[in-house]
Amino acid sequence: MAVQETVERKYVYDFAEGNKDLKDLLGGKGANLAEMTNLGLPVPPGFTITTEACQEYLATGREPDGLADQVAAHLAALEQTMGRCLGDPDDPLLVSVRSGAKFSMPGMMETVLNVGLNDRSVVGLARQAAGSGGQADSAGAERFAWDSYRRLIQMFGKTVCEVPGEEFEHALDDVKRARGIRDDVELDADDLRGLVDAYKKIFRKHTGRDFPQEPREQLDLAVRAVFDSWNAERAVLYRRQERIPASLGTAVNVVAMVFGNLGPDSGTGVAFTRDPASGAQGIYGDYLANAQGEDVVAGIRNTIPLQELERLDKRSYDELLDIMARLERHYRDLCDIEFTIERGKLWMLQTRVGKRTAAAAFVIAGQLVDEGLIDLDEAVHRVNGAQLAQLMFPRFQLDHEFQAVARGIGASPGAAVGQVVFTSARAVELAAEGKRVILVRRETNPDDLQGMIAAQGILTSRGGKTSHAAVVARGMGKTCVSGADALEVDVPARRFTVAGQTVAEGDVVSIDGTTGNIYLGEVPVMPSEVVQYFEGNLDPERTDDALVRAVHRIMTHADQRRRLAVRANADTGADAARARRFGAQGIGLCRTEHMFLGDRRELVERLILARTDDEREKALAALLPLQRADFVEIFREMDGLPVTVRLIDPPLHEFLPPLEQLAVNVAVAQERGEDVAQEEALLAAVRRMHEENPMLGLRGVRLGLVIPGLFAMQVRAITEAAVQCARDGVTARPEIMVPLVGAVQELETVRAEAERIIAEVVGGSGVEVLIGTMIEVPRAALTAGQIAEAAQFFSFGTNDLTQMGWGFSRDDVEGAFFWRYLELGIFGISPFESLDRDGVGRLVRIAAEEGRAARPDLKLGVCGEHGGDPDSVHFFHEVGLDYVSCSPFRVPVARLEAGRAAVETTGSDSR
Ligand code: PEP
Ligand code: MG
Repeated sequence: MAVQETVERKYVYDFAEGNKDLKDLLGGKGANLAEMTNLGLPVPPGFTITTEACQEYLATGREPDGLADQVAAHLAALEQTMGRCLGDPDDPLLVSVRSGAKFSMPGMMETVLNVGLNDRSVVGLARQAAGSGGQADSAGAERFAWDSYRRLIQMFGKTVCEVPGEEFEHALDDVKRARGIRDDVELDADDLRGLVDAYKKIFRKHTGRDFPQEPREQLDLAVRAVFDSWNAERAVLYRRQERIPASLGTAVNVVAMVFGNLGPDSGTGVAFTRDPASGAQGIYGDYLANAQGEDVVAGIRNTIPLQELERLDKRSYDELLDIMARLERHYRDLCDIEFTIERGKLWMLQTRVGKRTAAAAFVIAGQLVDEGLIDLDEAVHRVNGAQLAQLMFPRFQLDHEFQAVARGIGASPGAAVGQVVFTSARAVELAAEGKRVILVRRETNPDDLQGMIAAQGILTSRGGKTSHAAVVARGMGKTCVSGADALEVDVPARRFTVAGQTVAEGDVVSIDGTTGNIYLGEVPVMPSEVVQYFEGNLDPERTDDALVRAVHRIMTHADQRRRLAVRANADTGADAARARRFGAQGIGLCRTEHMFLGDRRELVERLILARTDDEREKALAALLPLQRADFVEIFREMDGLPVTVRLIDPPLHEFLPPLEQLAVNVAVAQERGEDVAQEEALLAAVRRMHEENPMLGLRGVRLGLVIPGLFAMQVRAITEAAVQCARDGVTARPEIMVPLVGAVQELETVRAEAERIIAEVVGGSGVEVLIGTMIEVPRAALTAGQIAEAAQFFSFGTNDLTQMGWGFSRDDVEGAFFWRYLELGIFGISPFESLDRDGVGRLVRIAAEEGRAARPDLKLGVCGEHGGDPDSVHFFHEVGLDYVSCSPFRVPVARLEAGRAAVETTGSDSR
């Protein structure tokens, strides 16, 4: 007879059984405690309940079968190691129950300390504390035991049984008031014993039962509460913001308690193995004698610099330094740690690879290479484009004169200074007078858009990182501080108050979109030294700026390693020159429509209004030399590098006055009896060209096919400019790009005419001109195999591909409703900012594959905004594009990310 065997899953791991690579299963804290245990470091013994147990519990609403027995077995082993039993009345083992997910979620989930204390074991604990030596006298020992007990009831009540935390706080305040003391540490054992009674009453009132005396019940309920805290509202919100999958669950660590509050020879602290702000080598940390970890975090008492521990307890200090050095070598990175000293004995409670600022990330990566701990590939992997972008923003030059008056959320980086205004209209008005303004609102809405554009920066008293203000500001690259709730904004009175001060319209403030700090008055702004370096104004070999040296070294290596070329989107000689200084290897998109603005509008108007072939040809002939000169300028700057020139794209009505305004002007002039023949003709043309949906109307290749001679003029101007450059010894490498193609027939028609003109102009100059197309209409992506027959290159226009792929009007939706979509988690980031891999990315992949299948030497690039977005760059690397093209300022970011994509192994979980 077949016996169905069910193999029980392993839900509990002793610290000695895990390691740092098991974060998925044991969470970050558990995996690192295991790693330290196996390194032989002094970690209090304990075990970890896996994330899988949590996932099952959350899915079914009950503990998985077998978990209780496994916990019992590991608890028994722990008791044996410690030589004490959980909650033993004479000499109790106490444990902490701590959450620990794969990714750090600071303060989001629960912890319960001192599990195992009850009415009887509290007495045993006091006796043991007094009897086991150290500097605690017996009164101190009693105090310690009762303090530990009241903390347990408080923490357990609040986190496990949802007793309102304030009730405990009030009871504590009552005792302090009655005794006339201010500091918790002044409470004596009797006070604390009384407090335990009061806490028990509160517990009973809210739960209808007595505080559980059975240690194992305490443990089981605490574990359950940690599981449940994974789905607490704040944790859910945090995960959504940080894009941490909800399916991961948390592990639970059950650790033997060690006490930093057993007297002056005990204490607790936190430390970093290097300065997480600047990356400077050395030990950075804080220590608090006679305290538990939560006291350090709560900031109730002032900590001392870690260095002073050397004076208090040299042996522990030396041991700690030794361990920190070991951890750095082992993890090959900056680590942060938490430790406790119990009566002169050092215990390590936590370590992890520590968070750091953008500058520190570069500096530390460089140092670790020097120290031989990592190689340059790893250094490139350890930094990222978002950090580099942050370092390229201007910063405030702060000295002690400037104290932030308040702090909000750093919603969009940068440093902005200006006069405060409270309405969009006023912002526009003052900006038109050349003034710098900061738009201050409670929160912004789409009506504020004009003011946001006009302002240097945006400051709101409400809303988080995905509020309207934050999303729109980031999209515009504008500095924004949101959610500064210390500000009372009074829009009708045109003022705000903060920290007892009133700031009225016209007063100057400075806001830091990185830190969220707000300053009254004008703080001097410092340009970024990293930009100075990219501009060529700072010699990395000579400067003593550690950051610039590190950036140079890492960028040089990223450039050597990357497969993707990086080009820039630039329409003027000046932009092209800057892009080249920033490392661009060509122009991936020159939008020629930008060359038809300003005083050339009138010529375009003539072109559109032409009634005869002759009139139209005259207008085109007048435009030709102007265009040619534009291209000569760009080709010169990009001597030797490819320049993709896109034929004119936007709807022509954009070059004509707005319909409503024109209609009013004509009506008024008619009323006055003026001669309005010309205006009427213009009005008729504007009416004729008016479109309900211009983005899907007469633009791109459609225009070229409808207005005879327009594309031909541009092709001629481009080719003549290249030939002229060749004559002057400049190597121009033009690539003519046709926009908005949806069918190969469109491209073939344009191409036939273009080839005729090119052949005629090029003559024997040796100039080579490529012809290719944008892939930005979904149909083009899906018929890429056909289109590739007529194109030498494809450039993905992911702005339009996103617009048409999602059906999102690109000029409207981000301001109108994306904040809500972000809030709901429909997407974590705007698909216009970071490529939607699943949908739009699929179109790119199909087109790349089918295009290359039809024409193996097809050149592939991208010139939509996504070309400079870090995550999207990795995708473009993966699908095998040849280059990305982005705005000049983002060229270094794209270079770095292309290098990272090349060196990274798949499956890395670093964030
Ligand atoms: C695009 O659509 O991605 C693109 C680069 O073209 P434009 O932004 O000019 O429409
Ligand atoms: Mg486009």
